[in-house]
Amino acid sequence: MSSSIEGKVVVITGASSGMGEAAARHLSAHGAAVVLGARRIGRLRALVEEITAAGGKALAVETDVTDRGQVQHLVNAAVETYGRIDVLINNAGVMPLSPMDRLKVDEWDQMIDVNLKGVLYGIAAALPPMMEQKSGHIINLSSVAGHKLFGGSAVYSATKFGVRALSEGLRQEVKAYNIRTTIISPGAVKTELLDHISETDIQKANQDYVGQVGVPADSFARIVAFAISQPEELDINEILFRPTSQE
Ligand code: NDP
Repeated sequence: MSSSIEGKVVVITGASSGMGEAAARHLSAHGAAVVLGARRIGRLRALVEEITAAGGKALAVETDVTDRGQVQHLVNAAVETYGRIDVLINNAGVMPLSPMDRLKVDEWDQMIDVNLKGVLYGIAAALPPMMEQKSGHIINLSSVAGHKLFGGSAVYSATKFGVRALSEGLRQEVKAYNIRTTIISPGAVKTELLDHISETDIQKANQDYVGQVGVPADSFARIVAFAISQPEELDINEILFRPTSQE
């Protein structure tokens, strides 16, 4: 497989909005076949229509990443349709920030289920075909919050620190199969991520800040394309990026 993006089969979770959607557009425009997973299937189908109308290759698969069977089905669909899986971008994530003393235990569970277990289910589904191919690339989304703590981020940060730990463990263990592992930690990017914060004071503070300093989602698309397009013998282990004006 060549080092470029052209011809690669790329599975993206959380492709119905934000950074996953931007990555799908960018990578398909550079010749990748993209396989898109998320719960909002209507949005995925509209994106597939847009990509195919522009001459690209794309497939939509309704996927809840908290369900291991559905993640397996997403990866199977890629292999059955396009014959292989070159890249998995474990991008789906939620960030219902809140201070711990407000005891939003259901939201803690949700963050662990989506941000950590969802990533693990993606890895479990993608590893067997990648090991057989003796090539592959697993890209996991952490965050600046996976490097430092800020108001209300304790559980979110725990999941994103966790993503970095499991990605590095994965890297050490699967390099023998010629599988690359990349952690991408974005700073403030303008997406729908803040829409689901239930604590209105925390939501407003974050919306004000990201509204002020946030960069568009295609910043991520360019960065993920950079990691994917390196020659196969080179693994970009970790990328941390922030808007220039972010703290
Ligand atoms: P968005 O809210 O725009 O996108 C999140 C995506 O995750 C959506 O497509 C959503 O799809 C999907 N998702 C959520 N829950 C599930 C689920 N149970 N199963 C499948 N898909 C799910 O936010 P971003 O684009 O910003 O987020 C992408 C990633 O980037 C996340 O991991 C986030 O933590 C991380 N990140 C974002 C930053 C930012 O500033 N925006 C900064 C640092 C990291 P659907 O609802 O259709 O299922």
